[in-house]
Amino acid sequence: MAANIIDGKAVAKEIKQQLAAEAAALRVAGHPVRLVAVQVGHDDASEYYTKMQARQAQAVGIDYELFEIPTETSQDEVVGQVLKLDSDSSVSGLILQMPLPRHINAAAVQLAISPEKDVEGVHPENLGRLLTGGGVVAPCTPMAAMELLARACPELSGKEAVVVGRSTIVGKPIALMLQYMQNSATVTVCHSRTKDLAAHTRRAEVLIAATGLSQGRWQRYLQQRSSGKDVGLPDLSPLISADMVAEGAVVIDVATNYIPKGFDESGEAIKNDRGEVALKSVGDVDFEGAMERASAITPVPGGVGPVTVAMLLKNTIACAKAGR
Ligand code: NDP
Repeated sequence: MAANIIDGKAVAKEIKQQLAAEAAALRVAGHPVRLVAVQVGHDDASEYYTKMQARQAQAVGIDYELFEIPTETSQDEVVGQVLKLDSDSSVSGLILQMPLPRHINAAAVQLAISPEKDVEGVHPENLGRLLTGGGVVAPCTPMAAMELLARACPELSGKEAVVVGRSTIVGKPIALMLQYMQNSATVTVCHSRTKDLAAHTRRAEVLIAATGLSQGRWQRYLQQRSSGKDVGLPDLSPLISADMVAEGAVVIDVATNYIPKGFDESGEAIKNDRGEVALKSVGDVDFEGAMERASAITPVPGGVGPVTVAMLLKNTIACAKAGR
C-alpha cells in the first residue's frame, strides 16, 4: 500500500494560523514582535530567502526588517552592528543570512547574537539546552522534522529511530530531540563513516535522512571540472534506495539536493531557457520507491522546508514572549 504523504505545506499553514493568534495577542498587550535579518553583501539565494521570510513573517503579524550591511564592511564593524541590534529592546529576534563575504568569520558574528534573540536556535547556549530537554528556542529544521514526525508517529516511545547525518544544526539536534524522556525512541546516528548504512536503515521504524550527499557530489563535480580535471559524472542516485527502507517505516527526508533534471546523450546536464543547468530538488531518499514500503513519508520539496520557516517564526514569537 502506498505511504501517506506528510504534507509540510498544510502543517506549516496550521502552525502559522496559531502563531498569528499569538502575535496578535502580544501586539494587543503592547509587545509587537519584530524580526531583523542581517545580510552582509549581496547573494541571489539569500535575497530569495529574505523576501520569503518577509512575506511569511508579515502574514502572521511579525514586523520584519532586512538590515543590509555593505560587503566591504570589516569583521569588527559587522560584529559591532549586530551587537547594537541585539541590545535594541524593540528587536525580538535576529537572523544572520548566509553566505557571508569571505573576510567575515560567520561563527564570530553569530556569537554576537545573544541566546535570547537567537531565533535560529544555533547559539551554543541554546544547543546546550537541548541536552536537558530544550530551552526557549531550538534549531528550526530539527524542530520542523519533529513536528512532522509527531503528526505521523505520535507515539515514539521505544521505537527504533535511525538518523542519517550528524551535523550540529540538523542531525545531532534531531537525535537529541528523539530522546526526550517523555516520548523517547532508541536512536542510532549514522554518518559518512558508518560501515553498513543499509543494515541500520532497514531496521528503522522511524528514518530521518539529512545528508545532502547528492548535491555535495554534484557541486564537487562542477568544481573539479572547472579546475580542468577530467572527471566522470558523479552518482546522483538517492543515498537511501527503496530497499533500504523498512516496511511500514515513517520517513522524514530533511535533505534538499539541487541536482540536474537530466542529462543529454553526450552526458551534459540539460539546460533551461536561460542557458543555465535545469535543476530539480530531491531528498536523500528515493521518494517513489519508498512510497511503496513506508507508512508515511515527507516529500521534497513540500515537506520539512515549509515547516522550517514556520519554526523560525515560532522561535521569534517565543523570544518575544520570553523577553517581555
Ligand atoms: P552537513 O553537510 O553539515 O552534514 C551532512 C551529514 O551527512 C554529515 O553528518 C555527514 O557525515 C553525513 N553524510 C555524508 N555522506 C554520508 C553517507 N554517504 N552516508 C551517511 N551519512 C553521510 O549538512 P546539513 O546537516 O547542514 O544539512 C543536511 C541536509 O539537510 C542538506 O541536504 C541540507 O540542504 C538540508 N537542510 C534542509 C533544511 C530545510 O529547511 N529543509 C535546512 C537545513 C538543511 P560526517 O559527519 O561523517 O561528515
